[in-house]
Amino acid sequence: MPRKPIIAANWKMNMGPAEAAAFMDQFIPSMEGKALSCDVVIAPPFITIPTVTAKLQGNTTIAVAAQNVSDRDNGAFTGEISTTMLKELGVTYIILGHSERRQYYGETDAIINSKIKKAIADGFTPIFCIGETKDERLAGKLEEVLSTQLSGGLQDLTAEQTAAIVIAYEPVWAIGTGLTATSKEAQEAHAYIRQVIAKLYDTDTANQVRIQYGGSVKPGNVKELMAQPDIDGALVGGASLKPDSFAALVEFDR
Ligand code: PEP
Repeated sequence: MPRKPIIAANWKMNMGPAEAAAFMDQFIPSMEGKALSCDVVIAPPFITIPTVTAKLQGNTTIAVAAQNVSDRDNGAFTGEISTTMLKELGVTYIILGHSERRQYYGETDAIINSKIKKAIADGFTPIFCIGETKDERLAGKLEEVLSTQLSGGLQDLTAEQTAAIVIAYEPVWAIGTGLTATSKEAQEAHAYIRQVIAKLYDTDTANQVRIQYGGSVKPGNVKELMAQPDIDGALVGGASLKPDSFAALVEFDR
């Protein structure tokens, strides 16, 4: 079965409730009546999620993601948010292992794996981010970094569970920098990720899992990236903050 593309907006620590309401008031009508060929996901900051879900009442084509979650159920974990809380708000996807979480908040492969397992156990689809730094790429360690992050993050997951998650390949040097991997570089990394999944599980699982590319994707380069055989979508930061730019991204095939 062909893999359905998935385009996701990662708003990071941008867009409070008022700004998000204005975004949705422009974005939702611009999507009306358009049969999109991809799944569309928006990941607002936690505090903005209720505003976005309220604006999406009755809209079944746009899903909401969280940008992180706790791996605990509830209790004395100051500052954390649980899967139960996210479920109550109508969230269905959770971005996990983003390089900014790894870099600034010390998230290790083991922590990310624990969060991925918690998210899946509670019915969410993880968007599991992996990617190399510039130094790692220059040192010829791309494959080693990707396979370590994959085997660590996916530890204990069954083939069925892995086939149903979304992986986001995001070269750290391309995030928020304006530098994009060439479509050839991105395709090579995606094909390698599929190879690792095939080794960890089997070819069917590798062929089913959706792999997004992330790193300065914008309306001007999305088409070429999406034309690559192993690129199934995009995780987009900067270019997802404006309704017209995000609309152009989800309509990449028009
Ligand atoms: C991201 O945050 O995942 C990302 C890819 O950001 P940007 O599109 O701004 O590079």
